[in-house]
Amino acid sequence: MKGFKSDYMLKKFTKLFRPNVRLSGRFTGCLLGQALGDALGFVVEGYPPEVCASYVRREMREVFTGQDGRTGFSFGQYSDDTQLARELLQSYAAVGYFDPADYARRIAAIFQEKRIVGRGTATENAAMRLQANIHWMDSGEPPPSAGNGAAMRAGVIGLLFYDNWDHLVVAAHEQSFSTHQDPRCSAGSIVIALTVGWVVTKKLVVAELLAELSKQVRVYDPILAAALLNDMPRWLGQTPGQAYGQIAMVGLTEGYKDSWHGISPFVTPSVLWSLYAFLRTPDDYWASLSVAIAVGGDVDTTAAMTGAMSGAYQGLSALPASVVKQVTDCGSWEFEQLCSLAESVCQQKQASMAV
Ligand SMILES: [Mg+2]
Repeated sequence: MKGFKSDYMLKKFTKLFRPNVRLSGRFTGCLLGQALGDALGFVVEGYPPEVCASYVRREMREVFTGQDGRTGFSFGQYSDDTQLARELLQSYAAVGYFDPADYARRIAAIFQEKRIVGRGTATENAAMRLQANIHWMDSGEPPPSAGNGAAMRAGVIGLLFYDNWDHLVVAAHEQSFSTHQDPRCSAGSIVIALTVGWVVTKKLVVAELLAELSKQVRVYDPILAAALLNDMPRWLGQTPGQAYGQIAMVGLTEGYKDSWHGISPFVTPSVLWSLYAFLRTPDDYWASLSVAIAVGGDVDTTAAMTGAMSGAYQGLSALPASVVKQVTDCGSWEFEQLCSLAESVCQQKQASMAV
């Protein structure tokens, strides 16, 4: 971590080199970057910081060349975070636009058909309401439940709406609301989606990105808005060890206790941690994932969100090729299929903009 601050400032003032990547490479990079982060984090989901840090240091590179995946799964298995992001793109590919009702039907189906891997309680409860034909605007888990189950799948919204922030914000909110009605969940979704949308189209000038994120989430979550604008620049100059204790506390009410060691599934800190992990080393996918996971806690989700942002920024070619080709969902929806889906959605998106 030594010397990081000066490196970061240098990059900041040179406006951060923008990788020269084709649009389709950003689409595939986002989805596969998420899948790989999710799969790597899934192995140690829920473990405390010391276990996760040791995993990152000594084993993570070997997980996919060795045989050790999450207990009960073959290595390369990704979880609900990526399954539900993939379903969102599948919905877009089938319908031709983002339709929250169609997406909600898919969420209901993946639970009903028992295809979901590593379910979240709020999403499962919403899926059961959807299965009982409750409308998607009424199916979401009510506040104060505010997990990261909607933000974890929101990165791909940035691919669908990178050309219009107003539409992006509405879509990020709607995709969240069908399972999570707390506005803090919408805010977390907007942060992840807008960051992906930003890096797809614009230079990554960190101060400008943070100002836009803060502006867009203010009505949904003023605490998150203030942290993005006032605190994130300072955290980015700190080591993960220094920043962790502050980020983990953002938005917690007094007396809040949880049993998680590391970043909990509460949406606000997990979104901030994922963004921090990406922005610390935007040119290094593996380094960002390492920070996302070494913190411990709900690390399949932090790594999924970080992986989506980093993959969209750097493109598919920046992901470690031999490793990313190992991703799987119980033997289906592996590397080639995910790439084909992201590429076809990219073509659809470009075609829709041409008319
Ligand atoms: Mg998961």
